[in-house]
Amino acid sequence: MGIRKILVYGDETLRKESKEVHKVSAKIKALIKDLKDTMYAANGVGLAAPQIGENLRVFVIDVSEEDQPNNPIVFVNPKIIQKSGAINSYEGCLSFPEAYTNVRRYDYVKVKAYDIKGRPFLLEAFDGTLLARAIQHEFDHLNGILFVDHARNRFEADKELLEKNLLPIDADKLLNESELEEAIAQKTKADE
Ligand code: ZN
Repeated sequence: MGIRKILVYGDETLRKESKEVHKVSAKIKALIKDLKDTMYAANGVGLAAPQIGENLRVFVIDVSEEDQPNNPIVFVNPKIIQKSGAINSYEGCLSFPEAYTNVRRYDYVKVKAYDIKGRPFLLEAFDGTLLARAIQHEFDHLNGILFVDHARNRFEADKELLEKNLLPIDADKLLNESELEEAIAQKTKADE
């Protein structure tokens, strides 16, 4: 199918929990190809299957620089098996056209997943890099969690969403991340 339509915030599919993939079948391989095609066409660094209407536990990430060759990483049935540290940074999402807000994330994650050939692999991402943040962002999509649910400042995020003609934050979905908030505050203090 190639380039697919990216669902926009407000679509219920984005809030559903996605199902595990039993086998990396021809159908799943076709889905992975569509995810890549759609992500590159939209200039994104990551795209998860629910964003193109498939509630399956698959996402792709490519954090290579613009002048570098494409380097997509495919994650099937990913699990975050370790996480630590905390950072905050601005994030956007292909399902939120033009909207960016400050969110909390871990700065280290270790992921276990399967690749496009169904082979298991482990991947570590350190220091709050784009890869570390993208993994958490895309992983969240598989659980119906969106980046605005991590907003550090609800007022600021709501203002941004309103300006982009998007729905305000769903108060029921907003995550309480006091430990991450505390870790961010301590780190900011140490850096001063
Ligand atoms: Zn997203």
